[in-house]
Amino acid sequence: MSKHLSLFLGVTFVLVILCSLLLTHAAAWNGVRQNGAPWLQSADSGIAIQPAIITGTVSFSGDMAYHYALEQCTIGPRPTGTEAGWQTGDYIINVLKEYEWSVTEQMFDYDELAVRNIVGKKGQGPIVLLGAHYDTRPIADKDLETPHEPIIGGNDGASGVAVLLELARVLNETDLQQEIWLTFFDAEDRGHIDGWPYAIGSAYMAAHLQERPQCMVLVDMIGDADQNIFWEANSDPELLQEIWDVAAQLGYRQYFVPQYRWGLSDDHIPFLKQGIPAVDIIDFDYPHWHTTQDTCDQITPASLERVGEVLQGWLSTGGKCSAAMVSETP
Ligand SMILES: [Zn+2]
Repeated sequence: MSKHLSLFLGVTFVLVILCSLLLTHAAAWNGVRQNGAPWLQSADSGIAIQPAIITGTVSFSGDMAYHYALEQCTIGPRPTGTEAGWQTGDYIINVLKEYEWSVTEQMFDYDELAVRNIVGKKGQGPIVLLGAHYDTRPIADKDLETPHEPIIGGNDGASGVAVLLELARVLNETDLQQEIWLTFFDAEDRGHIDGWPYAIGSAYMAAHLQERPQCMVLVDMIGDADQNIFWEANSDPELLQEIWDVAAQLGYRQYFVPQYRWGLSDDHIPFLKQGIPAVDIIDFDYPHWHTTQDTCDQITPASLERVGEVLQGWLSTGGKCSAAMVSETP
């Protein structure tokens, strides 16, 4: 993931107001749930939304997800425009096809390097885009000892892809209420190198959408053994509430902390700029970020499983990205 990080606590007055609004919202939410009332008025949109209740089977396997991460780490560093990067894309495509996802590739050149986004599609209904970047940073510029070495990207790259590939295995077409796009972005992590910005692949995709996703959920750096996933400040507040509510139902309140901490520039920003509600699920408290220590040793099946279960459970809730919400849209 990215740059331009601003510790959310550093931003004062506006955020104090925002936090107090959200706390009010959360308090109202808890009150409604305790009273058993089925509907809740969203403080943000004024639209009645149903509390996120998991209705489907949650079968996500952390061990399988970790296997998908190890396969990527075994390839080695996987920067955009390298043979290893292309090999990683081919690996992703093979897994998607194995589980009968319809695969689309989006290719373009940037600064004479070939960039390839990959999308696996399945299901019918409103489109939900679940995304992760699969490229890894070509230099470990936060590494004090070897700042010119490439990173393996066990967490920053492999972990998000691993969760999406395991979702490819466990999401059954017959159970889907939405059309799911499992989306693998290239060229996220070359920012501030050779004049490149971050998030090139996602920006290209968001600018060339033929169909409009109902919402977008990004997973990035979610495999840390010491997992603490806070609300990301640029994300859509209703979607944050829904997803963290599902995490609480699964008993993961300790790991999905419903508090703002970081505001990040990541692959969700281009979709937010298109007016598409988007969330960045990211654990940015990670000491090995952009160092050669970011290997698959730093991530665990349990951490991957919690994130995967939350996403699988959330897809079954009939929340903001559901058909019901679409039908209420004028
Ligand atoms: Zn990164």
